[in-house]
Amino acid sequence: MDMKTEVLELETKIINHEAYGNASYNWSPRDFELGSGLGQGKFGHVHVAREKKTGYLVAIKTLFKSQIMKSKCERQVMREIEIQSHLKHPNILQLLTWFHDERRIYLVVEFAAGGELYKHLTNSPKGRFSEAKAAKYIYQVADAVEYCHQNHVIHRDIKPENLLVSLNGDIKLADFGWSVHAPSERRKTMCGTLDYLPPEMINRQVYDVTVDQWCIGVLLYEFLVGKPPFESEGQDRTYARILALDMTYPEHVNAGAKDLISKLLRTVSKERLSLDGVKKHYWVKQYYSPS
Ligand code: ATP
Ligand code: MG
Repeated sequence: MDMKTEVLELETKIINHEAYGNASYNWSPRDFELGSGLGQGKFGHVHVAREKKTGYLVAIKTLFKSQIMKSKCERQVMREIEIQSHLKHPNILQLLTWFHDERRIYLVVEFAAGGELYKHLTNSPKGRFSEAKAAKYIYQVADAVEYCHQNHVIHRDIKPENLLVSLNGDIKLADFGWSVHAPSERRKTMCGTLDYLPPEMINRQVYDVTVDQWCIGVLLYEFLVGKPPFESEGQDRTYARILALDMTYPEHVNAGAKDLISKLLRTVSKERLSLDGVKKHYWVKQYYSPS
């Protein structure tokens, strides 16, 4: 199937959103007032924008079709759109609608006014989060990813760079570029970021939804320590440390947090704590209970 057919097919699936009223409305760039740039994406740029009729602030991500085709990422991009348009959860960045013209695809996304979580982390005192903040963020990530799994989606690329923060300081999971609809027969694709790669992906073995639990363990460690647990010079060393589960905790890390991390960073994927278990873990509950 070529790009055009896929676009047309997906166009019929444009989602409904209260602020946008009728799903069959033909959106165009003229409906939006473009504001300042928010960041650079792989295939274009991201801007804050105001929808003229409602005054609603959104982010518009522009993708150039020529660049997508040049890097042969048509399928990946369409999958990202398809997956993100079906997920509705308070901690998942919502794709509100999308449209395209000759040269570009425009994704209209919920605006995350707090920006990248990664920046919050590096700007924190000592480059790490307090336990209270880490517990809240990990709860919200676990809740979002649990919802993905319930909808048969594996994210596969959970890390601070793919988490945004809302105006209210809540997590917004973004970037479904690597995510897959969990296949019935398990997969062996190699992807993701080095520091967050689970052992079974390094070994190119079959894997399942529990790769996300591993990544949440790495994420929690990075929240509390300021760097990921297996960080090393060079890919081979990082891989070796991941496979050997070679990690240490600085003294300041609380016993409850260590307990949770150690229940997620399990080489045997079946042994990893469930996401519901993360939300109910005593260390998380000690600091955070959603209202
Ligand atoms: P990459 O693969 O390099 O992450 P990408 O194509 O996935 O690029 P995004 O990560 O979606 O692009 O967007 C690039 C940057 O723009 C983000 O890192 C973030 O800083 C900013 N950004 C994207 N979407 C939003 C949003 N909805 N609200 C606020 N900022 C955003
Ligand atoms: Mg990104």
